Amino acid sequence: MAGDVLFVQAAGRDTRPGSLTMVLLQISEPGEPTASHHSRQIALGIDLGTTNSLVAHFDGTETQVLKDDAGRAALPSVVYFGSDDTKIGYAAEPFSVTEPANTVASAKRLLGRAREEFADDPYLTLTQGGALAFSTAAGDKTPVEVSSTILSALKCRAEQHLSGNIAGAVITVPAYFDDAQRQATRQAAELSGIRVLRLLNEPTAAAVAYGLDADAEEASILAVYDLGGGTFDISILRMREGLFEVLATGGDSALGGDDFDRAITDFWLAELGLTQPSAIQRRVLLGLARSAKETLSAQQEVTMDCRALDIDCAELSLSREVLEGLVGSLIDRTLQACDVALLDAEVDSVDRVVLVGGATRMPRVRAAVTECFGREPLCRLDPDQVVAMGAARQADVLVGNRGEGEALLLDVIPLSLGLETYGGLVEKIIERNSTIPVARAQEFTTARDGQTGLVVHVLQGERERVEDCRSLARFELTGIPPMVAGAARIEVTFRVDADGILEVTAVEQLTGARSEVIVKPAFGLDETQITEMLKASYEFAAEDMTARQLAEARVEGEALLAGLQSAMSQDGDLLVVDEAQHLKEGMQALEGILAADDPQAIREMTEQVGRVSEDFAARRMDRSIQSALKGVSLTSLDADQTEERSDS
Ligand code: AMP
Repeated sequence: MAGDVLFVQAAGRDTRPGSLTMVLLQISEPGEPTASHHSRQIALGIDLGTTNSLVAHFDGTETQVLKDDAGRAALPSVVYFGSDDTKIGYAAEPFSVTEPANTVASAKRLLGRAREEFADDPYLTLTQGGALAFSTAAGDKTPVEVSSTILSALKCRAEQHLSGNIAGAVITVPAYFDDAQRQATRQAAELSGIRVLRLLNEPTAAAVAYGLDADAEEASILAVYDLGGGTFDISILRMREGLFEVLATGGDSALGGDDFDRAITDFWLAELGLTQPSAIQRRVLLGLARSAKETLSAQQEVTMDCRALDIDCAELSLSREVLEGLVGSLIDRTLQACDVALLDAEVDSVDRVVLVGGATRMPRVRAAVTECFGREPLCRLDPDQVVAMGAARQADVLVGNRGEGEALLLDVIPLSLGLETYGGLVEKIIERNSTIPVARAQEFTTARDGQTGLVVHVLQGERERVEDCRSLARFELTGIPPMVAGAARIEVTFRVDADGILEVTAVEQLTGARSEVIVKPAFGLDETQITEMLKASYEFAAEDMTARQLAEARVEGEALLAGLQSAMSQDGDLLVVDEAQHLKEGMQALEGILAADDPQAIREMTEQVGRVSEDFAARRMDRSIQSALKGVSLTSLDADQTEERSDS
C-alpha cells in the first residue's frame, strides 16, 4: 500500500514538447489467417437484437440469412424459463401473456447495466454475487445468461444448416454500447460456446453488407439511418480505401415504428369516440394499426376488419395520406437527430445513405431521408437483415477466408475518457468521437514531496470537474521512490481496443513501477444518458471553463507554495545569499492573492515566484534524483516493480 496516495497533477504539458505522445494503433486482427483456398473456415454473422436476432453466413459467393424449420429468418429475442422447460423465440412468445414473470424479452436493454437503473422493475432481482437478474421459475437468469440462450439457439440453427465446425462469429452491437455492454455481449457469446471474432457496430455492418468497403471511390461519407420498432439510430461513417471510421452517432432510444402504431391507434380511438378503451381493445387496435401501417407501404388505402373490438363498427380504414399526416412530426424528429449527427461529424453532406430497420420500408420515411441527405438511400437489401449480412461478410474476412488488405473497421468512442487531476479536475486523454482502436499516453507527476503512490481515477464525460463526469475505475500506482514534488515522471496510457474496451496503464518512468486496470464500468450509459451528458457539457461550457481556470491556477499556486515551504526547511543549505529573502516576499504575495477569484492574477504571481525559485529547484532536483538512485542496482529496481492487474 502506498503510504501517501494522492491524485496526480498534470506535468507541464505545454512546456515539455514530446512528453505527450499520440499513437493511433494498427488494428490487429483477432482471426488466425490459416485457411487456404481448399479449406474454408465457417464463420457466422450474428445480429443480437433487442426484439429479434438473426444469424447469417457468407459462403464465398453470397450471404445467406439462415432460417428456422418454418422458413423464418428472425428469432424473437424472447426466452421462456419454465420450471422444467426452456423455450426460445416464437415458441416463447405466447408465455409473455400467460407467464410474464418467466418470460424474458428485450434482455439486451439490460446487458452490462447496473441494478440502480432498474430498481422499480418487479421482475428483476439480484443474484448472490450482486448481479442484476430476472427471477424465473428456472432460477435467477442474468441478462448475459438470457442473451447466451438466444445465441445458443442461433448457433444450433447454424450447425443444422452448415456442416463442419464453426470457427467463430462476428456479433453486432449498437455503436453507442459502452465497455460494460460490450463485455457483457462478449461474455454471453463465450457462455454459449461461440468464439467472438469481433464485436462490430451495427451501422458499420450495414455498410459492409452493401459492399461499400469494396468501393474504389476516394474517401466518401456514409449515413446509416436505422429506424426499428422501438429505437432510432443515426450514424455517420467515413470510408477511405476500404476502411470505415464512425465519425458520429446519435438518435433516440425511444422512437420507432411502435410510436407510429400508437399514433394510428389514438387517431382511430378519436374517430370511434372511444374515450376509455379497455386494455384488450387497445391491444387489438395496436395490432390492427401495425398491419395497416405495413400494408400502406405498398398501397394507398387500407380497410381493416375490427369486429374483434366488440363495438358497433365492423371496419376501420386508413389512407397513406392520413397516415403520413399522423406520423410527420415523428419522422421530423429523426431528421433533427440526423442534423445533429452531421454537425457532430463535422461534415456538410454525405455520399451514400443506407437504410436499416423495418420502419424504413415506409415511403414517407424514404422520401424524408432522401430530402434530408440530398440523395436516394440504398434500400436494395432487406432492412431487417442487412446488419446480420454485413457481420457475416466481416466474419468471413476475419477467419482468413479472404486475402489480405480486406476491410478493417474503425469505430468511435461516444464520450471522452480522462482522469482526475489535482484539484478535482478532469484531464481528457482520449477525446470523444476518437476513432478506435486508439492509444494515447500522457505524462504526469507527483504533487507532493515524498509522495510514493497515487490514485489513478478514470472518468468518462465532457465536463471539466470530476463530480460532473462518470467514474469508471480507480486504481493505485505504488512504489514511486520518494522524491521532491514534480520529479517523478508517470506515464499514463489509455488504450481502447477494436471492441471498445478500455485498458489504462500507469508506469513510473524511473523505476518502471507499473499498475494497470481493464475498465469494466459498474454501469453502462445508454444513448439518452450520453445525449444528456453532451447537452450539459455545452450548456455549462463557459461556467466550467472559468471554474477550471480558477481551480487550476489555485492548484498550481498552492503546490508551489507547499513545495517551496518544505524545500526551504529540508534543503535550506542550497539557498544562496538573498535568495531566501526574495522567495519569502514572493511567497507572501502569492498567498495573499490565492484567495481572490482572479485566475489571471494568481497565474502571473505563481509564474513570478516560480522564476525566482528556478535555480533553487534545479539544485534540489539534482540532489533528489541522485539520492533516489544511490545504491539501488538494476536488479533490485526490477524486484521492486509493482504489478497490479485487475479485471474488475
Ligand atoms: P425492426 O425492429 O427493424 O424489426 O422493425 C420493426 C418495425 O418496422 C415495426 O414497427 C414494424 O411495424 C415496422 N415495419 C415492418 N415492415 C414494415 C413495412 N412494410 N412498412 C412500414 N413499417 C414496417
